[in-house]
Amino acid sequence: MPDRCKKCGSKLSMDEIGLYKKMVSRMAEEFLCKDCLAEHFKCSTEYLNTKIAQFKAQGCLLFDLDE
Ligand SMILES: [Zn+2]
Repeated sequence: MPDRCKKCGSKLSMDEIGLYKKMVSRMAEEFLCKDCLAEHFKCSTEYLNTKIAQFKAQGCLLFDLDE
């Protein structure tokens, strides 16, 4: 699995990979970091942090719950 953003090349966290899968495509094999994803959706990174918290609260298994 790639661990770099496909756009800017920054290191991805498990949260960012999980978020991309939830919001873009579960089958994705390339991912965007939070900054690039915010740009893609024309939203703020704060909004994405909120979404990550929501997905974690739902117990989504795409996220690393140990972090
Ligand atoms: Zn990026």
